[in-house]
Amino acid sequence: MTRLENRIYLSPPHLNGRELDFLREAVETNWVAPAGPHLPAFEQALCAKLGGAWYGAALSSGTAAIHLGLRLLGVGAGDTVACSDLTFSGSANPILYEKAVPVFIDSEPGGCGMSAAALERALREAAAKKQLPRAVIVVDLYGHSAAWDAILPLCESYGVPVLEDAAEALGASYQNRACGTFGSVGVFSFNGNKIITTSGGGMAVVRTRAEAEKLRFWASQAKEPAPYYLHKELGFNYRMSNLCAGVGRAQLLTLEEHIARRRANFQYYERAFAGLPLRMLQAPAACEPNHWLSVALLGDACPLTAQQLVDALEADNIEARRAWNPMHRQPVFAGCAYYTADGASASEDFFRRGVCLPSGSAMTVAELDAVAERVRQLFN
Ligand SMILES: *Cc1c(COP(=O)(O)O)cnc(C)c1O
Repeated sequence: MTRLENRIYLSPPHLNGRELDFLREAVETNWVAPAGPHLPAFEQALCAKLGGAWYGAALSSGTAAIHLGLRLLGVGAGDTVACSDLTFSGSANPILYEKAVPVFIDSEPGGCGMSAAALERALREAAAKKQLPRAVIVVDLYGHSAAWDAILPLCESYGVPVLEDAAEALGASYQNRACGTFGSVGVFSFNGNKIITTSGGGMAVVRTRAEAEKLRFWASQAKEPAPYYLHKELGFNYRMSNLCAGVGRAQLLTLEEHIARRRANFQYYERAFAGLPLRMLQAPAACEPNHWLSVALLGDACPLTAQQLVDALEADNIEARRAWNPMHRQPVFAGCAYYTADGASASEDFFRRGVCLPSGSAMTVAELDAVAERVRQLFN
C-alpha cells in the first residue's frame, strides 16, 4: 500500500455544524466574559442524559474536574488515594496536586477495568494498618464501564468514596445505569479526542446542588459573595468559558450518533480481522460501551509487536497508538504502591498487546477499508 495522502487520525474532533449557531448566539449577545448562559444550559443538558438528579460543574478540563472532585471528597496532604493503574495520567496527576499518595490498582486480566480482587487486597491491607484511602478513582476506560457490581459493594463495605473517571465514557452504561453516576463524583472530559468535544473542557457531576455550587465556587477563584474581593478558601481558575459550553451544547445534540458510528467502526474491525492472531477488546458483561476507541489486543501468535504495528501504520499515514502505559511504570509515580490480584501484572500485559485503531465518529468506509487492508497485509 502506498502512503495515504490524507492522514487518518486516531480520534479527531467531529463537528456537526450546529456549533456555529451556539457560538454566534454567544458572540452576538456579548457573552464571552467568560461566564454566560451556555454554561448552566450545558450542565443541565448533560445531566439530563444521566438519569436521576445530578448537578454539573462545567470546568476547563477533565483533569480539573478530577482535582476539584478529590477536594470535595476531602483529599489532602498525606492521604492515600487508590487509582486505576491502567489509565491516562490525567486520572492520577490530581492526587499529586493535593500532595496525597497514589496507590495503583491493577486491571482485570484480558480487560481494561479495575480488578476488584486487586482492590480488595489493597483495601484489606490498608484497613489492617488503619490507613484506608480517602478515595478510590475508578476509571471507565476506552468507553467501557468498570465491573461496578464487584467494585461498588467493596468500596461501600470499607466506607471509601468513589470518584468515577468517566472521561472516556460519556454515553456508556452498565446494567442500564449511565457511566458517571456510580461514584460520589463523576467526571467527563470534552478534550478534542473524546466522544464529544468543547475543544477542551470537562465536567464534574454530583448528587446535590450544594456540592455543584461548591465546585463552581472553587473553580472561580473562591470569590466570596462580598461587595469587595474576599477569599476565605484557596481558589482555582478552572471554570469553562461560555464559548466552549456553547460548543458542548451543540455536540450533545449528536452524542448518540457519535456512539452509533463508533460502534459501527468496532463492528467493522471485528469482521475485518476475523482469523488474524488478534482480538478486539470486548466490554464487560452488562456494559453498553460508547466504543470510544477500538482496541486490538495482539495474541501470542502475532508476528508483530504492538509498536511495530503502530509504526507500520504510521508509515502509511495512519495514526494508531499503543494502549495506555500503566501508571506504576511512569517515572513521575516511581515508588508508589501497586496492587495486583496475584502477582501477575494484567496492566503490563495489556500495554504490551494493545493497539488503539483509528476510531473517529466521522470515519468513512473508505478509511476503514484502508486501515483494515493495511493491517491484513502486515499479517500475511
Ligand atoms: C482524557 C482523560 C482525562 C483528562 O481529561 P482532560 O480533559 O484531557 O483533562 C482523564 N482521565 C482519562 C481516563 C482520560 O481519558
